[in-house]
Amino acid sequence: MQAAFTDHELLAWLEEQLPVDRMAAIEKALRDSEPLQRHVALLARRRDQGGHSIGEIWRRLRLSCPTRADLGSYLLETLDADHAAYVAFHVQTIGCRFCLALLDDMQQSQQRTPERETRRRKIFESSAGLLGRDASATEADSFQE
Ligand SMILES: [Zn+2]
Repeated sequence: MQAAFTDHELLAWLEEQLPVDRMAAIEKALRDSEPLQRHVALLARRRDQGGHSIGEIWRRLRLSCPTRADLGSYLLETLDADHAAYVAFHVQTIGCRFCLALLDDMQQSQQRTPERETRRRKIFESSAGLLGRDASATEADSFQE
């Protein structure tokens, strides 16, 4: 499977110098093949030593950055396996700083949400409780005692 693309071709893919259909074929193969993902990451890392950081390459080419919605779904683990693997490759293997910052942001607001939810639920439950008591004659009586 990996033999389908030469290193030369994969490097050209990194530089976005391939015909569109070949670009798409490589991106599809990347989504499907973890070994290929690792191989491209290795090629890109080697290239880093040539002066370009992989983050720069990625940002310059804006290669395959998942959408904000995709990243959100990734955090919530609601993406299908292929898609999740691709996002994981993008943020973990490639280490796209842009997406990592975005994920970090989302993670922090997600962590705040359960607290807010709990507080809201408590307020709702206590007012529901009060309403229930008002509606019940015996409880209303005991409330007056
Ligand atoms: Zn990205």
